[in-house]
Amino acid sequence: MHAFSDLQLSLLPRSLATSGSAEWGLARDERGTRLVVLAPRGSTLLADLEGERSEHAGRTLVVGPASAANARVLRRELAWLVPRPIGLRTSIGLGDRLGLATPGQVRAVRAAGPDLAPIFAQQSIREMARTGRTPQQIMDAATWGVFEEGWQAGVGADGDHLKEPADIDRCLAAGFTLFTFDPGAFVAAGVGTASRADVEARLAALPWRALDDTFDALKMRYLGRRIDLEGLAVTFDEESLARAAAKYGGAVAHVSSMYRHLARGAAGRPFEVEVSVDETDDPTSHAEHVYVARELRRLGVSWVSLAPRFVGRFEKGVDYIGDPRAFEADVAGHAAIARALGPYKLSLHSGSDKFSVYEIVAAEARGLVHVKTAGTSYLEALRAVATVDPDLFCEIYVLARERYEVDRASYHVSARLDRAPEPGALRGARLRALLDEFDARQILHVTFGSVLGAEADGGRPDLARRLFGALRAHPEAYAATLESHLARHIAPFHHSDVRTAAS
Ligand SMILES: [Zn+2]
Repeated sequence: MHAFSDLQLSLLPRSLATSGSAEWGLARDERGTRLVVLAPRGSTLLADLEGERSEHAGRTLVVGPASAANARVLRRELAWLVPRPIGLRTSIGLGDRLGLATPGQVRAVRAAGPDLAPIFAQQSIREMARTGRTPQQIMDAATWGVFEEGWQAGVGADGDHLKEPADIDRCLAAGFTLFTFDPGAFVAAGVGTASRADVEARLAALPWRALDDTFDALKMRYLGRRIDLEGLAVTFDEESLARAAAKYGGAVAHVSSMYRHLARGAAGRPFEVEVSVDETDDPTSHAEHVYVARELRRLGVSWVSLAPRFVGRFEKGVDYIGDPRAFEADVAGHAAIARALGPYKLSLHSGSDKFSVYEIVAAEARGLVHVKTAGTSYLEALRAVATVDPDLFCEIYVLARERYEVDRASYHVSARLDRAPEPGALRGARLRALLDEFDARQILHVTFGSVLGAEADGGRPDLARRLFGALRAHPEAYAATLESHLARHIAPFHHSDVRTAAS
C-alpha cells in the first residue's frame, strides 16, 4: 500500500496531516497551491473532492485546487480547521485583506507559545465591500493558510464591525464564531457638551420600549448607588446618568436586538460576541462603560470582549497618539470594570503598531485582552513587494496618493499628502523606508480598496493581479516579513505572568 512518502510528491512539510486512513498535504508548483489527498479507494471522503484522481496500489490520490469545495472537505475532515469560540483567553485578531497572510501570521502566533489564541479569519463588512470579498472567501483563505502551516491548536473567526442583522446572517452562513457588533451609528455624538435641553430631547427619543425601561426606572437602579471597582468608585447623579443614557441608550438597544437576531440564527451553534464602540468621536468614560455593561447585561446580552473608545487617538497603522499616562489611567479603569462586571476582555481595535502602549494594556488588562489588527498585514505585503518588485510598489504608491483624499473618509487617519514624499525619485532603501513613515504608511493603509476592488468600484485589477502574482511567487518573503512585524505586536502579551486572570 502506498503512502505519501512513496509517491515522490513535493509537499509543504508542515501541511502534512492524517485523519483515519487518509493523508493530507499541500503542494506548491507553477500552477499554485494544490491540495493532495491519499485515501483508500472508495473512501467516502473522496466523493466531494475536486481534482485529478489516480490509483496507487489500492489507494486513490487526488490532486486538486485550493477551491471552496475542497476547503469545505478539509474543515469537515480535520476538526482543528473549524473555528470555535475562544472565550476569555488572551487573543489576537489578524485580518487579511489579500487572503495570503495567514501562513506568516501563524508563524508569529506559533512563536509566541500556546497561550495566545489566534483569529485569522477576520474582516469588517466595510473591508469586504472594498475588496470585493465574501465572508466565505475570507474563511476559506484562512483555512488554507492554517492547513499549510499545520496550526492545530484552534482558531476563532471574527465577523468584524457588523452593523445590521444581514451582516450577521452572512457571517453565520460562512461559519464565523465571533460576532463583533458595531452600534456606532446609534451612539450620540457631542452629548458631553450638549445643552440640558438637547440631552432631554435625546432622552425622550430613546427607544424605551426596546430597552424595556423608563427614565424613572433607570434612575431607581443607579442614583444613590456606589459601584465599587477595585478601589475605583463610580457614582451617577441625575445629570451624568441622563448623559450616559442619551449617548449610549440607542446603542444598547441596537446591540440587544442584534444579539437576539444572532442567537436565533445560530440555532444552538456556539458563538461569542464583541461589542465595539471604538470608531466613535468621543471617548467612553468609565461611568458610561458601567452604564453600557450593566444595561446590556440586564437585557440578556452576553459578550466576551468590549472595545471602548479610549482617550487619545488610535489611528490606522501608526503608534498611539496622545499622552500615555492619560491612556494608562483610562485603560486601568476600563479593565477594572471589565473584571468586575464580566469578566470580559478589553478589545484594542486599530491595534497594530501601538508599540508605546502595549505594555500598559498588557499590565492593566491582566490577560483579559483581545488585540485586533488588520491592515498592517496588507502593509507588510507591500513591504515585501517593495523588495521583490519595486516598480510595482511605486505604482501602488502613486495610485494611493491619487485616491487618498477620497478613500480616507471612513477611517481615523491624519496623514497629509503634502508631507508624504513624491514618488518620482524614490529608489531602493529609500523606497522601502516609505513603509515606516507616518504619512505614507496611512496613505497606503486606507487605499487598499482602490488597488484591490472591482474595476466598477474604481479598483485596479491590473495592479491587483501583479500584486497577487508577486506575493504568490515569493511566499517566503511575505511570510518572513509578516512574522517579524507581528512578533513585535505579540511579545508584550504572551510573556506576562498575568494572563488567564479569569480562567
Ligand atoms: Zn474597530
